[in-house]
Amino acid sequence: MKKIIFSVLISVIILGFSYLQLFAASEKFELKTSKATLTIDHNGNLHIIQNQGQVIQVNTSIYNLWKVILKNNLNNREYTIIPDKNVTIDKSDKIFRLVVNSISIENKALPVKAEFTISEKDDAFCFSGSLKSDSDEWMLKELDYPIISGIQIKDNNPGIYWPVGLGQYFNDPVEFGNRSLRYPDGQGAAMAWFSLNSNDVGMYIGSHDSLQEIKVFNLGYDKSLKMFGTHINTPIFDHEYVIPEMILKIYNGQWHNAAKYYRSWYDKHFEIVKPPDWVRDDPGWLLAILKQQNMEVMWPYKDIDKLCDIAEQFNLSTISLFGWAVGGHDRYYPNYPPDNLMGGREELKKAIDRAHSRGIKIIIYANGKIMDTSTDFYKYNGFETILIQENGRPQIQYYLKQKNSTPVIFAQACTGSEVWRRTMYELGFQAASLGADGIIYDQVGIMNPMPCFSKNHDHKPGLGDAKNRLQMINEARQKSREVNPDFIVMTEGTNDAIIRGIDYHHGCGLGSMISFFGVDGFPELFRYTFPELIMTQRNPNPMITRTDANWALVYGLRHEIESRYPGDVEYLLYGTLPTAESYLNVVSPPSIKKMNLLPAAEATKYVHSLIEFEKNNSDFFRSGKFIDEDGIEVKGNDILAKGFVNGNKIGVVAWNQHLTEKSDFSVSVPGYHLIKAIEPENSVVEGTLPLHANSIRLLIFQKN
Ligand SMILES: [Zn+2]
Repeated sequence: MKKIIFSVLISVIILGFSYLQLFAASEKFELKTSKATLTIDHNGNLHIIQNQGQVIQVNTSIYNLWKVILKNNLNNREYTIIPDKNVTIDKSDKIFRLVVNSISIENKALPVKAEFTISEKDDAFCFSGSLKSDSDEWMLKELDYPIISGIQIKDNNPGIYWPVGLGQYFNDPVEFGNRSLRYPDGQGAAMAWFSLNSNDVGMYIGSHDSLQEIKVFNLGYDKSLKMFGTHINTPIFDHEYVIPEMILKIYNGQWHNAAKYYRSWYDKHFEIVKPPDWVRDDPGWLLAILKQQNMEVMWPYKDIDKLCDIAEQFNLSTISLFGWAVGGHDRYYPNYPPDNLMGGREELKKAIDRAHSRGIKIIIYANGKIMDTSTDFYKYNGFETILIQENGRPQIQYYLKQKNSTPVIFAQACTGSEVWRRTMYELGFQAASLGADGIIYDQVGIMNPMPCFSKNHDHKPGLGDAKNRLQMINEARQKSREVNPDFIVMTEGTNDAIIRGIDYHHGCGLGSMISFFGVDGFPELFRYTFPELIMTQRNPNPMITRTDANWALVYGLRHEIESRYPGDVEYLLYGTLPTAESYLNVVSPPSIKKMNLLPAAEATKYVHSLIEFEKNNSDFFRSGKFIDEDGIEVKGNDILAKGFVNGNKIGVVAWNQHLTEKSDFSVSVPGYHLIKAIEPENSVVEGTLPLHANSIRLLIFQKN
C-alpha cells in the first residue's frame, strides 16, 4: 500500500515538472496547413481554425483525445482507461507528442505505455502514436482515437457525406443524429473517410491505414450545442500497436475535393484490379436461380438456352447461374456438385458452350462466407474454417426463401482459414473447368468484417478477415486463369478493400438502387471516388422499370434482371403479369406493383433500346470516367444530370425524373462547347429542347 502511494506521489511530481517546464503559459504549439491552423495552448486546449472565414472551428482538449480498453487475460475483465493529466509533452520537430506516463487501475500502475502524436502531413493534421503492453497479463483491446469534440460549422445545415454502401447524404445534422459505421463493409463503411461540407469549405476525416484493418467511424451532432463530435474506434487485441495515420483536413470547395484527397492516398498504397475488356463492355446481367432452396427446379441446364433468349430480348449479355448445384439456392454450401436432376455435368457444359456461341457469358455462384451446418463439411472442417466470436461461439445465420420451409442454418466462415480458401479456389477452378467465364463469391464484399478469435487462422485472433478475403480472391483468380485467361471474380456489394481484387460487382446495399428499404442513397460518393468500379444496379425483379433503368444509366451502373421464383419464370417466358397470389409463399418477392406498370414486352423493349444507346455511346458509358457534376452546371426542375469524361470530351446524361411532365433545363460545362445531343428513342435532337417526362438525353461537349 505504501509503495503505491509513493509511486503516485512521484508521478504527480513528474507531471508537474514536465508539464510546466515544457509548456510555459507564454508558449503554444502550432501547426499550419494551407487552409487551417491547429494550436495547443498551455492548458491543453486544442483549437483548429479554418483560415479564411473561420467557418469551421474545433475546440477540444488534448486530455480528451483518446480512450483505451485493456483486457486482463487472467480474470478476463475489461478496463476502460481515460486520460488524466499525468503526461509528458514534447513539441519538437513540428510534432506534438503526448506521452502517457502512467496507466493505472485502482492506483496500481500497469506495464502499459501510450504515446499520441499530432503532426502535419499531406496538407492535413495527422493523429498517430503507439501503444504497448509489456505484460502478457494485459492486452490492448480497443482504442478510440482521435476523439474530436467541439466541431462547429457556421451554417445551420452543413451537409454530411457518409460512406455507407455507395454513399449517403444528409443535409440536416439533426436528422443525422448519432451514427457509427464499421469499415471495410459494403453495408457499413465502404470507404475509410467521410466529410462535412458547407458553402464551399469542408472537413475531411479519414483513416489512412495501409493494412485496411477494421475501423469504426463515429459521428454525432449535439443540437443544443450545435456541435459535431467524432471518434474513430479501432479493435486491437494485441500487446503492441502502431496507430495508423488518422487524418483531419480542412479543404476548400465541394466534397469532390475530399474524395480526390482520399483517392490520392489510396493510390499510393493500392492498385485496383483491371478487368478483362469484356467486363468493361458488359451491359449487365440476368441473374437466374435454377433451383430454389425448396428443391423446385425452375430452369434445368438445357433451359439455359431459354435464359439466353431472355437475356437477348433485354440486350443483356451475361447470365449468372445461382442455385445451380445439388442443394439449390442457399442449401448445402460449400458443396456445389452439378445436379443430375437438372441434367448433370455434361449437360451443363454443353449449355454453357451454346451460350458462348451466342456471345453470352456465364457466371457461376458460390457463397464465399457461409457454410450449411447440416453438411459433412461443417461437421469435419468446421473447426478449422468457421469464424469464432469472442465468446467462443460460431456466428450463425439463417436463410429462408419459402415461408413454409424450415430455415437453413449457416455458420460464417473465415477466409483466414487456409482450408476455406482452398475450398473456394477449387470452386473457382471447377467453374472455369465447366467453361464458365467467372465465379461470384457471394457476400465477400458485403458481409460485416467481424473480429475472428480462431487460433487456427492466418490472422491474429481478434482481427477481421478483410485481407484474407482479398488473398482468397487472388488465389482463385490465379488458379482459374490457368484454364481461362479472361476468367473473372465477382462478389456482391463492394468496399474499397475488396475492390482491389474484384473484376465486376453485383450491386447490393445503399446506393445500388434508387431507394434501399425506403432510404435514398448517394451513389455519387463511391462512384466519384472509384469511377473505374464496374457494378450492376440491384434490381430484384424479372423486369426493369423505365425509372430504374434510367437511374442506373445516369450513375453508370450496369443493369440487372432477376429470376428467382416461379412467378418470375411465368413473367419472363409468357409475359404473365403477377397478382398478389403469385408470390404468396416466397420470402422477399419482386415488386408486383412495378411488374404491373406496363406489359412485359414494352418494359423489355425500353431496356433494350437504352442498352443499345449505351453501346452506341460507349466512349462515355463504357470507357468514360464518371465525374458526377464536378465542373458541370445544371439547371431545371426534376433534372438529374451526371458527367462522364473521355479525352477532350464530356458526355453529360440528363434525366427528367418527373413521371408525367416535360421539363425545361440547361446544362453547361465551362471551358467546353456543346457538339451533339442524342436520345435513345429519338436519335439526334436539339440540345436545348425540353426533356420529356422520365426521359434521358446525352449532351456531348468538347473542350474549347
Ligand atoms: Zn478467422
